[in-house]
Amino acid sequence: MNADTLINFAYIVASILFILGLKMLGRQASARRGNLLSALGMLIALVVTLLDRQVVNFTWIVIGLSVGAVIGVVCARVVKMTSMPEMVALLNGFGGLASLLVGWAEYGKIRAYGWDRYLAEFTGNPVFTSTVIFLAVLIGGLTFTGSLYAFAKLAAWVSGKPVIFRGQHVINGLLVLLILAGGAVAILASDPAIVLAGFTTYLVLSLVLGWTFVMPIGGGDMPVVISLLNSLSGLAACAAGFVISNNVLIVAGCLVGTSGVILSIIMCKAMNRSLLNVLFSGFGASAAVSEGGDGAVQGELKPISPEDAFAVLEAARQVVIIPGYGMAVSQAQHQVRELADLLEQNGAEVRFAIHPVAGRMPGHMNVLLAEASVPYEQLVEMDTINPMMPTMDVAIVIGANDVVNPAAARDKASPIYGMPIINAHEARTVICLKRGKGAGFSGIENQLFLLPNSRMLYGDAKSTLQSVVSEFKSISG
Ligand code: NAP
Repeated sequence: MNADTLINFAYIVASILFILGLKMLGRQASARRGNLLSALGMLIALVVTLLDRQVVNFTWIVIGLSVGAVIGVVCARVVKMTSMPEMVALLNGFGGLASLLVGWAEYGKIRAYGWDRYLAEFTGNPVFTSTVIFLAVLIGGLTFTGSLYAFAKLAAWVSGKPVIFRGQHVINGLLVLLILAGGAVAILASDPAIVLAGFTTYLVLSLVLGWTFVMPIGGGDMPVVISLLNSLSGLAACAAGFVISNNVLIVAGCLVGTSGVILSIIMCKAMNRSLLNVLFSGFGASAAVSEGGDGAVQGELKPISPEDAFAVLEAARQVVIIPGYGMAVSQAQHQVRELADLLEQNGAEVRFAIHPVAGRMPGHMNVLLAEASVPYEQLVEMDTINPMMPTMDVAIVIGANDVVNPAAARDKASPIYGMPIINAHEARTVICLKRGKGAGFSGIENQLFLLPNSRMLYGDAKSTLQSVVSEFKSISG
């Protein structure tokens, strides 16, 4: 077996590990192992690539690996779970930047060598190589600046509101046309000065396009955008793989590209919005408050104390806990688990109802509840729990708002009309934990809180849950 065959064999093994890992990430029980398997695939791919390529100087590789490893370990330990979307945005951006640099470096090599010497030493043909360099720089560039902007919005470094102005789509359209023109010139021209002009045009404008593309999208829609940018960073890596003829980079890039698109579509479906609506509607630009559309409910907010909440819960036999973004903000998952355990010891059957877009990133609630060791069997999906909801004695809504807002089903004027929700309002009693009158991500009122069977348990979710848990403990001894 010659070296090339061995290398490609190792790349196939790495690719299989990526695919198996991705598949295992789809289920909570196997997700951790899936992650490890994919990481193993990446290790194989890296080691083989380093041995395969004629690395000029390993010193820089070792320095890069060490610095990267330290940053990675620190981030993994320091970054809070609620900041994970920002973190992913940054990682996507750096992925895009890496592909851009690969394309740029290859262009520099061609410019230094000239096509004749380049083609004698490397495989490829001028049109193909110039095209994949164009794609790596274009997609990598817009992913880089778009991700940085998404990060800045999520981290509240800039306003999360969509920035919308007249003629915006025309400007973006013009940018795309100029980038394509620059690309065509760089690919087809033979005069190095003209190629340089084309290359510079599409490089700079790609960076501008990433920024202007994310500008009109609201901060709350950033998770969908980040998933889309993740997909783009994969496609950029795929193009970079073609630039340097690296098979495993092509495969890994395709996997990231397709899984990112699938995830974006899943999120959009769960919000009952199209991808185009998320990207171009400027959702959240105006204070969208739905007041009294079809089926509006008149009523008042009825506070309840932790002691009274305990009394209601102590008598309950069927309890459903519906976590939302507020649980993530207050990091109340351990108290939630403790309360669930106490309820079960008291003879109640407890389920956790998980909405697919509860929180701010896919699987947000699952990750937090897994951190608190809530058994997987207790987690129930929206479609399973909804038919059971009228049989529930108590629904405890912990920092969830939009995902339990009945306006989504009833109020045609509501911006979230059509979004599937967990029907918490159908439970006999609903106890809602939140700090005050704060709206959810969509910025609209929630009729659930005004219903006759709803009670508001005000305060930070972690401390109010702690109070209810203390009540349980004081009674039991
Ligand atoms: P939500 O609608 O954002 O509501 C969160 C609620 O938590 C707020 O009303 C807030 O009210 C309360 N809260 C905040 N901090 C709290 C604390 N420390 N203690 C107690 N309560 C607290 O959350 P959601 O119901 O989970 O809905 C998620 C939203 O995000 C959906 O609209 C979804 O479409 C959107 N989204 C999700 C994803 C995703 O991937 N998961 C992606 C894109 C968009 P107070 O201020 O009064 O406390």
